[in-house]
Formats: sequence, C-alpha cells, structure tokens
Amino acid sequence: MQLSNFSDWLNPQKTEIEAFLKTLVEINTHTANTVGVDHGMDVLSSFAEEKGFIVEVASGRGRLIKMTKGEARPRVLLIAHMDTVFSSDMGFDTYEPLGDGFVRGPGVGDIKGGLVMGLWAMLAIRELFDAYDVQLVVSPDEESGSPSIRDWYMRGHVGADYAIGLEPGFPQGELSPTVPLGVVIQRRGYALINFTVKGKSCHSGVPQEGLSAIDALAHRIVALQPLNDYERGVTVNVGLVSGGVSPNTVAGEANASVSFRYFTMQDGQATKEAIEEILSRQYVYNPILDLWDSVEMQTEAFIPPMEKTPQNLMLADIVLQEAEQLGHHVVPLVRGGGSDANFISATGVPTICGMGAPAQGIHTTEEKIYLPMMFERIELLTRTISRLIVEHPISAAKTD
Ligand SMILES: [Zn+2]
Repeated sequence: MQLSNFSDWLNPQKTEIEAFLKTLVEINTHTANTVGVDHGMDVLSSFAEEKGFIVEVASGRGRLIKMTKGEARPRVLLIAHMDTVFSSDMGFDTYEPLGDGFVRGPGVGDIKGGLVMGLWAMLAIRELFDAYDVQLVVSPDEESGSPSIRDWYMRGHVGADYAIGLEPGFPQGELSPTVPLGVVIQRRGYALINFTVKGKSCHSGVPQEGLSAIDALAHRIVALQPLNDYERGVTVNVGLVSGGVSPNTVAGEANASVSFRYFTMQDGQATKEAIEEILSRQYVYNPILDLWDSVEMQTEAFIPPMEKTPQNLMLADIVLQEAEQLGHHVVPLVRGGGSDANFISATGVPTICGMGAPAQGIHTTEEKIYLPMMFERIELLTRTISRLIVEHPISAAKTD
C-alpha cells in the first residue's frame, strides 16, 4: 500500500471496522463498572493480538498495544481509554445507525471511535514502512482523571517522542459532512480540593454555646469567588456542599469540594496556594468558648494543563498541512477540559489531542458520530504519524 491509494486499502475493511466499533460500544464500560471495563479491555486485546499487535498490561488495568518493527525512532504514542460516563441503568446501551452515516451510542465518539481509528492507523503504518514504533495506550478510568494510570504516564514510562490523543474531533458547529473539526493544541488543567470545616454543635435555641461550621463554610465559599479570572482562563467552583444534622442544630461540621481549572502550571500552582490560604484562614469566633472554626483539606487531584508549547504547535501544524492536502476542514482548538494528553504533555513530549472520531453530544445520551468522516480521519491520522516517522522533526530541530 502507498499513501496515494489509502482508500483502496481502507474501503474493503470498513465493514469490519464498523462491526468492531459496534462490539466495543455495546459493552458497558462505565468507569465504575470495573468488570465491564476489564471485559472491554480483554475484547480489545484479543482483537489486537489477532491483527498482529503485541499487547501488554499497563499500570494494573490499562493496556499498551504495540506495533513495532526494527530499532525505529521516533516512538509515536496514541492515547485513548476504555471507560465511558454511561452507567448500565441509563438505558443507553446500543449502537444505533441513524441514517446518512450518523451513528448514536454510548462512547461511540468518546472514545471507542477513536480506539478503532488508532488501531487501523497503526495497521496502515505497518503496510507503509519497514521500520516503525507506534503504541496505543488505553486507560481504564480516564473519565475520572485516570487515577490508576496517571502516575505511570507522569513517570514518562512510555518513552514517547510524540503523542496524539484520540479524544473526539470536535465539530465547530452542528455535526455535518462539511463542518470543520478541531485539533486540540491546548487543554486546561484541573484540580480538586475537598475540605471539612469544623465548629461546635449545640441546640439551635442556644447558639452562643456552639460555633456553626456552616457559617464558617459560607465565608470560605464567598472568599473563593474573586479567584475567578476568565481572561486568564482560571475558573474556581465550589460544586458540592453538605453539612449539619438537623434544622434545630448548630452544625458542628460541614464539607465542600472546590475544583479549579487553569491554562498554565504556574496559574495552577498560584491558584492552589491562594485557595489553601483562603481555606485555612479563621472566620468565625465564639468569645464565650474562646473558639475559632478550623479546617482540614485534601487535594484529590491536581492535573497539569496541556500547555500551548512550540512543540505542540509544530505537531498541530503537521496535522493542518496534511488536512489541507486531503481537503479536510481542520482548525486549531483550545479546550477547557482535560484529557490524558495533559499528563503526557506535562512530561515534555510534544502532544496534540482531538484526533479521534467526529462527535457531537458526548457525555449525553445524544452522543453520535459521523461515520464517513471517521473513516476519512483514519487517513489523516496515518498521514500525520507517517510525517513524524519520516521527518522526526524534534530530533531534526535538536541537531540544528
Ligand atoms: Zn474521552
């Protein structure tokens, strides 16, 4: 096969690609359904092994699917995940063709379409080159920030030279055969701090004998508000609160979760420190008891941003050039949310994301993709990887 007759190679395989996508979509792989996720991983692994890939377990429940030959550099890493946000009791569990090439289903865009695209791009690379090293990592719990595999990513375990995330290609408008799709060049980081405010409970008839943890919590929530800076892309939200035991009791304890997002690691660190400072201040004092409120806090997640580095932009440029060659409408895109590409990018590997299936309504029961465009994007993905293999632009830049 040559790149010039890619469609002749791909066309006869489209039925098989769609059948395997349907198989994956109809396995419930909600993040919390670990049995289902593990089953999905097994089905994916067996299929990949039949096709000649080497499959390894990565960090417990993840998989690393390899297509390598020779002592090849660069190593290109594709990033995907098996889990979805759809629990089995939602009644959204089938692969449903909607006509005209549109297909609805749980995870069809995020990210099972991307998974099959990755596999077939790797099969294409095997046809095109004598030496290559392309690997596909599959997280079992990306939708909750990949807790089981993120340290493995951050240790640079894979040793990749380039990384390409297969999160959906986001349409810039209603999903249609002609809508432009984004290639993601920047993603914000995400962090979560849970905290507990402590006071002293008592009967609400004699509030002077206690100290309301709910009052003390409210002060903190209000004090956090000014940390929002929409222009810098720093956003802070207290999204969960609980506390108290009855309407007639001064609450002795209250809990809350504050999450925040940021475009640079520097902003992330600064916001984290500001939040910690605001939370640890004392706000309510009971002079009779000589008692101040107190707080305990725990950082549950601190996910690095995927920053807009020159290396990431160089990778995006290759995609844009190849898209133009193919007549695809692709535009650079900044996303507010994170993905596993954030972890890889934070280790210094040139990274882009959003190279997966063209999808709309992800994370809702209206999640759908446009299949003809998904097939076209296997060619775009293959061409992008091919350029990296042929040019290895980072090492070329280094020897300058
Ligand atoms: Zn995803």
